[in-house]
Amino acid sequence: MNDILLGCIADDFTGATDLANNLVRAGMRVVQTAGVPTAPLDTAADAVVVSLKSRTIPAAQAAAQSVQALRWLQTQGVRQIYFKYCSTFDSTAQGNIGPVTDALMDALGCDFTIATPAFPDVGRTVFKGYLFVGDVLLHESGMQDHPLTPMTDPSLVRVLQAQTRHRVGLVDYTVVAQGPEAIRARIAKLRSDGIGIAIVDAVSNADLMRLGPALADFPLVTAGSGVAIALPANFGIAPNPRASALPVVRGSRAVISGSCSRATNAQVAEFIATGRPALALDPMSLCAGDEAIEHALDWARPKLGDAPILVYSTAAPESLRQVQDQLGVARAGELVERALARVACGLVQAGVGQLVVAGGETSGAVVQALGITQLQIGAQIDPGVPWCAGKSALADATLHVALKSGNFGTPDFFTKAFDRIA
Ligand code: ADP
Repeated sequence: MNDILLGCIADDFTGATDLANNLVRAGMRVVQTAGVPTAPLDTAADAVVVSLKSRTIPAAQAAAQSVQALRWLQTQGVRQIYFKYCSTFDSTAQGNIGPVTDALMDALGCDFTIATPAFPDVGRTVFKGYLFVGDVLLHESGMQDHPLTPMTDPSLVRVLQAQTRHRVGLVDYTVVAQGPEAIRARIAKLRSDGIGIAIVDAVSNADLMRLGPALADFPLVTAGSGVAIALPANFGIAPNPRASALPVVRGSRAVISGSCSRATNAQVAEFIATGRPALALDPMSLCAGDEAIEHALDWARPKLGDAPILVYSTAAPESLRQVQDQLGVARAGELVERALARVACGLVQAGVGQLVVAGGETSGAVVQALGITQLQIGAQIDPGVPWCAGKSALADATLHVALKSGNFGTPDFFTKAFDRIA
């Protein structure tokens, strides 16, 4: 059996990649799985990240799926469980961070854990239990208007207390600043006072590194992806280049872009400006049938090679709105995701072995259509986006993919990614 040390459960797919990326940078070999695996892992790993889609589903389902993931991780002999959620603590008054934490604590028989979304590298800091996004409090960051998980209270103690039956306490930064011994002492005190979950302050990576050793004996850690930088050391693992080693790359290069985020629009514009081949998929043409998909593949096949090609539906806000007004948001999204996934499959069948996908939902659709269930995590291209390698029945050899959620990456990402893997 694999000697897996850390078992992680992430509440969405690109969040799972973000966590895996931090663990690799801290020296662990990591495999990310889409859902709870039904087969043994393809490759050796120090950590496994099981990605669920449980952030906004009913709390009882999220808890049940998370416990199912936990049971599988336990069969792999993991020594510690990490429940990973968003660094903006995305949740509603019903959950799902509290209910999933409660269910995992019950299943593990543990009476204490921590919770901290702090991730200073991307501007998420926790001070006196209040979450900051950049320079502003959570509820002033735009997250108060989120369509599914509006965050209107920056006090993590209050937010979590509304979702959990455990009492919630705080390890504040004055304690964290004193180091692991002081943190352990504070935790012991909270425990004896009947606290079950402690929010932990962290305003810098140094704070996270002080917190790490105090968590060595915890059966369960709950956090954003920030805390991951400090856990591998507890297992005697230090940053090393072997952690990000992937199988040899092969095949031609392509980019599929279904994200309409600002950063992705800039990346598409930059790619086109370099004079490389790019084809726009018109969502309205997809209503008529599969002709547009076939046309895209016929256009792409003769161009495939070392120089990347791009097929995109990426659009500026105004034209996106027009399409959504005509087709409805959900139908437009489904049509485009399905089409881009079909194009991705056709490109892989035509010999693409290195594929960049832009868009969180788009990435999910592409990975699912390719039948990829396990991804080995490689080196970071830009913060939060690593190259990954996986197996697809549509490819003869290992397929390399980079899954970029909308707002990640510099404007030259679509060409830089291939330079990095070369
Ligand atoms: P991001 O990570 O930027 O949020 P996603 O892939 O998660 O990107 O979401 C983008 C959504 O927009 C997808 O459902 C995609 O199918 C849809 N979409 C992409 N392009 C268009 C378009 N031109 N018109 C309408 N919907 C689109």
